[in-house]
Amino acid sequence: MSATESSRTASSGSLYAARKAIYPKEVEGSFRRIKWGLLAFTLAVYYLLPFVRWDRGPGAPTQAVLVDFPHRRFYFFFIEIWPQEVYYLTGLLILAALVLFLMNAVAGRIWCGYLCPQTVWTDLYLSAERWIEGDARERARKDAGPRTSKIRREKIAKHALWLVIAWWTGGAWVLYFADAPTLVHQLATFQPGVSQAYVWIGIFTFTTYMLAGHMREQVCLYMCPWPRIQAALTDEYALNVTFRYDRGEPRMSLKQGLALRAAGGRAGDCVDCGQCVAVCPTGVDIREGASLGCVQCGLCIDACDGVMAKIGRAPRLIAYDTQMNCERRKSGAAPIFKPLRARTLIYAMLILAIGGMMSLTLATRGDARLSVIHDRNPLAVRLTDGALRNAYTVRFANMSGEPRRFALEVEGLDQAEVEIVGVEPDAQGRFVVVVGPDQTREARALVTLRGDKPSAAQTPIVFVSRDLDSGASVEAKDAFLQP
Ligand code: SF4
Ligand code: SF4
Repeated sequence: MSATESSRTASSGSLYAARKAIYPKEVEGSFRRIKWGLLAFTLAVYYLLPFVRWDRGPGAPTQAVLVDFPHRRFYFFFIEIWPQEVYYLTGLLILAALVLFLMNAVAGRIWCGYLCPQTVWTDLYLSAERWIEGDARERARKDAGPRTSKIRREKIAKHALWLVIAWWTGGAWVLYFADAPTLVHQLATFQPGVSQAYVWIGIFTFTTYMLAGHMREQVCLYMCPWPRIQAALTDEYALNVTFRYDRGEPRMSLKQGLALRAAGGRAGDCVDCGQCVAVCPTGVDIREGASLGCVQCGLCIDACDGVMAKIGRAPRLIAYDTQMNCERRKSGAAPIFKPLRARTLIYAMLILAIGGMMSLTLATRGDARLSVIHDRNPLAVRLTDGALRNAYTVRFANMSGEPRRFALEVEGLDQAEVEIVGVEPDAQGRFVVVVGPDQTREARALVTLRGDKPSAAQTPIVFVSRDLDSGASVEAKDAFLQP
């Protein structure tokens, strides 16, 4: 905030500076093209992914990416995550954070500048605004001047287009939670039973319209925690969009600079044209150094390269570089670029280790699960014949496409007998439960111990669920308690 703005804010008694409208100018260049490419790619993935099909066999959902709340499943192509495996999602979140840290250590806020949904949708909304109302200068003029009927019509058209994009965005979101083609048909024909989907579409329409249309750079400046975290995680080797002041300063107009150079003086390459500020979507002047407001989108690089090309000077007066290199070049030393350093290697190794471990466990996991919870009250009961009994809630999970028979056994406690309430033992005395394909079944298990009791108050035991057809087994640990 400038001194004038500060004193104005102080004299008005407000703790907050009024928002200054930003009209980013359109720009051409390599970073703009990269941003267009990523915008098209990320939006195409978001809008089209629910319609991608994946064959999982008869009876299973055919949607490649699906969050199936009614059946408590998450499907991602060939991966199916059950509620008992929610730790994979935790692992994914940890991986995402590490990838963000690595990106930051190599090239600053490239997530913010190119991939963050706030950036992508704001860019899309700005394009719609430019298409209807014209480029920066025209938009600023229209906002400052009287509202003619033409301007009003343009405003209505712009907001209508924004709302259509927002509605489309909310509509795509709900398609990740149900079979997309079926839900589209139900929504389009106003069928009963999808009222929740309408509510969620409404919520996402509103938030998209507000965040990308109205709040824009304010989300990055005031709401998002990442710039603060990123600033604490960065170091002097991380590449950031940098004004190369060793080359650009002292800045002055082209005319003054040429005159000074002709007289044998030193003039920087910056001609103070202000184009880098004019194209900035957050209104930052990159020449003032690093700031939280800079989302590192690289558009000021394109703007300045365009100016340099016009006046016949070398490009990249603004570039992905470091402040340290500016200082080094000033003192005549060669710049240093160190993408491989302790923190990038540690992040990369952690990503490989966690990613590798998750892939391995996913690839080798079986298609059955067993979970056990000991009764809390009573922990143990003594029967009239002196035997001790503990009760448990046992859940068998059959993750295959066929029904399966599981026999329950208990290990770790000599002479302990296990039974399942409501199930008769088979000819061999085994308690067997049948679990349908892709289902779980809960049962109450009783473990009874007759004869000699262990000396410890708590004895570790292992429940074993054995598939009677394949012989494969899964285990769950618990304990047998004495009163
Ligand atoms: S200063 Fe440059 S890189 Fe930073 S947000 Fe503005 S245009 Fe993008
Ligand atoms: S666009 Fe380049 S030359 Fe123009 S003010 Fe910015 S840094 Fe200086």
